[in-house]
Amino acid sequence: MKICVLPGDGIGPEIVAQALRVLRALDLKLETEEALLGGCAVDATGSPYPEATQKLAQQADAVLLGAVGGPQWDSNPREQRPERGLLGIRKHLNLFANLRPAVLYDELANASTLKPEVVAGLDILIIRELTGDIYFGQPRGIEVRDGQRVGTNTMVYSESEIRRIARVAFAAARKRRGKLCSVDKMNVLECTQLWRDVVIETAKEFADVELSHMLVDNAAMQLVRNPKQFDVMVTGNMFGDILSDEASMLTGSIGMLPSASLDENNKGLYEPCHGSAPDIAGKGIANPLATILSAAMMLRYTFGDEPAAIRIEQAVKKVLASGFRTVDIYEPGMKKVGTREMGDAVLAAL
Ligand code: NAD
Repeated sequence: MKICVLPGDGIGPEIVAQALRVLRALDLKLETEEALLGGCAVDATGSPYPEATQKLAQQADAVLLGAVGGPQWDSNPREQRPERGLLGIRKHLNLFANLRPAVLYDELANASTLKPEVVAGLDILIIRELTGDIYFGQPRGIEVRDGQRVGTNTMVYSESEIRRIARVAFAAARKRRGKLCSVDKMNVLECTQLWRDVVIETAKEFADVELSHMLVDNAAMQLVRNPKQFDVMVTGNMFGDILSDEASMLTGSIGMLPSASLDENNKGLYEPCHGSAPDIAGKGIANPLATILSAAMMLRYTFGDEPAAIRIEQAVKKVLASGFRTVDIYEPGMKKVGTREMGDAVLAAL
């Protein structure tokens, strides 16, 4: 298992170090090599996604990323911004499937702004297509027509693009509770009528998965009304952008949310959903659990090692049940710990 490790900026190196300790404790055949991405890469080489990193990322089976960015690079020219590195690696590795689980651990039910009974035990997975849709469609732009400015973007999906993301979603549902909800706007948008047609065709390959469909406006409502009705949701780039953020906030704790972005061969980039948290960088207090859970996703989706993934997830549950809390999820009466101590607790639970 060749892993390219990109600690990145801010709290990135602190949280990635803990995820690596956890991976190494599992006694797997791991090879890890570190490289630069983001602001640290700009400082060292002038580029946010330097050639050496590109080469390593290309050769690896999976990439583990901390986070990139920070105020010191905010006024850089566009090509030398840390976020460019992130977009660069996603594009370079052709990562078209973004997987974001939203799990609410019973112990953290109070962190959500929704009523505990609505969200306790929540465990959903949002799958967003990442390389197509209105974000990339042509024509696009702003032009003057008949004396006024007109803005245009184009929603476009080919059936092969829809089929490949649908297959990822069906396969993921098969590994979970076997339910897939496809989200579209077929009552208004032809592009998403095609989306629905192709998802229905693809369902024939996955007869054991129960498929349903929902219009995106209803899906946005249902996510806050009764989110536990969902297992896996799949949708296009724009709807997924919005729904995945909505779903992640159901849990209320940004330091707990992992993510995966996959290519056609299940090679993946794994990273926490949060950013580089410059406000707490270097203080040793960041929550490493989102990154540790991202490592679990790596074992599940790239390396097909479900038992090892479950071991990590169970260890995290146990640590929370034992009352360990970093500052972002702390409640009175719990044991407040720093980044490394949280790593120690997960190792002990393993
Ligand atoms: P952020 O997610 O970094 O931080 C938001 C708030 O959440 C901060 O108060 C931070 O301290 C807290 N937080 C985040 N992760 C935490 C953790 N693991 N433990 C404890 N607290 C945590 O978002 P931001 O402040 O908007 O962005 C900061 C920088 O990160 C910016 O430069 C931004 O561009 C970048 N960013 C990078 C990514 C990425 O690398 N994928 C994603 C989002 C933002």
